[in-house]
Amino acid sequence: MLEQLTDKNRLTKEHTQAYRPTFALNRNTAGFTKEFKEGIYTLVCDKAYGPFVRDLDHNEYIDLTMGFGSLLFGHNYEPIRQAIQDQLSQCWSVGPISPLAGPLSQAIAQSTGVERVAFFNSGTEAVMVALRLAKAITQKKYIVFFKGSYHGTFDSLLSLRNDPQSGVAKEMVPGVTQAILNESYLLEYGSDESLDFIRKNSDHIAAVLTEPVQSRNPGLQPCDYLHTLREITEEKNIALIFDEVITGFRIGLGGSQAYFGVKADIVTYGKVIGGGLPLGLVAGKARFLDATDGGFWQYGDDSVPVVKSTFVAGTFCHHPLAMASSLKVLEILRNSNGGILQNLNQTTTDFCKRLREFFEHERYPISIHHFGSLFRFTTPGKSSLLYYQLLLNGVYVWEGRNCFLSPSHTPDVLDRLEELVIQSCHDLETQGILKKSSV
Ligand code: PMP
Repeated sequence: MLEQLTDKNRLTKEHTQAYRPTFALNRNTAGFTKEFKEGIYTLVCDKAYGPFVRDLDHNEYIDLTMGFGSLLFGHNYEPIRQAIQDQLSQCWSVGPISPLAGPLSQAIAQSTGVERVAFFNSGTEAVMVALRLAKAITQKKYIVFFKGSYHGTFDSLLSLRNDPQSGVAKEMVPGVTQAILNESYLLEYGSDESLDFIRKNSDHIAAVLTEPVQSRNPGLQPCDYLHTLREITEEKNIALIFDEVITGFRIGLGGSQAYFGVKADIVTYGKVIGGGLPLGLVAGKARFLDATDGGFWQYGDDSVPVVKSTFVAGTFCHHPLAMASSLKVLEILRNSNGGILQNLNQTTTDFCKRLREFFEHERYPISIHHFGSLFRFTTPGKSSLLYYQLLLNGVYVWEGRNCFLSPSHTPDVLDRLEELVIQSCHDLETQGILKKSSV
């Protein structure tokens, strides 16, 4: 398989090799093993349209990466492109505030039920700021996050292990030192012990941060657990932060908050809401968002900002192109009354069911789970070579393996995709890589 891939992706590999000296990119080493070295590279593509990407060798792939979930409508979606182009022809300057930012905050508040919105450039930045606001308002220091979640690359969250005695996250990544993790508790998601732990340590916990449904484990949709977390955090003056960078504007216009009927204190959004441009939002209750600017005041009377604020800023925070693109995303979603998301989520449910039935029927050890239009294959052991076989057969899944469908994955494309997954499994079986279970 590796020789065939090398043949197919010749220009991607040559390009990767040529620029490795200057272009530092960890994705080009992701999952490195010596045995599999020849298959370790990130596809280089210069074209993307609808559900397809095209690589330097002019191979076309059905894309399941969809801009890591940022391209809800598919690649190069005309209405978004037009909105960006229109804005581009006016200006793309930062400095003075874009007149689009205010209306965008309003539209987001109306769609999601949050009270206030602050704009940043990425999910990572949004999560970092959300935690800062929580600490500023509760005047406590510790944060809780959960195993299995991914919240971006803010240092205080870069660990997968904890100290079993204290619950404190343990140093794992060079450069992320223990000192920066000392106020981060890393707990089991969904467990009663974690709830007890939060209750017991509530005096110094500022925030509980959760991806309501973890993108790495979308089968776990712990509705009751989220309600319990809400009760505890409410009672103990802990900020409940929903990281909806993936679930937001995907599971529905109101995101996981509406889906599970739980109102968080702070919500972070990214990906879909930017329409493919860099955007991260910190949204939520005024009580917390007021720590950005001191809260509401007005001209013409003696009102003043009364909340002690922390510091947040960023050169590109209200970039006009991102504002224009985001407003268009919201306009499209709101005009469809949630219908676009509902249909897409139903399509994903149906598609995953088809594949699940195939895996079960063939007794392959692969399974599939989804939440909204996000889905993931579970590929134990050698069955993870599925992704390489898919690449060879014309389906692109990035190294993090989160897959996304879009409305541009039409029934015809999905039929073809199903065929390619089936073909890839059979190819792996022929090579002796995928084995059927005995019962
Ligand atoms: N939170 C979640 C739930 C995410 O999935 C991600 C990125 N995949 C982030 C935060 C970080 O977002 P970004 O990559 O835009 O920094």
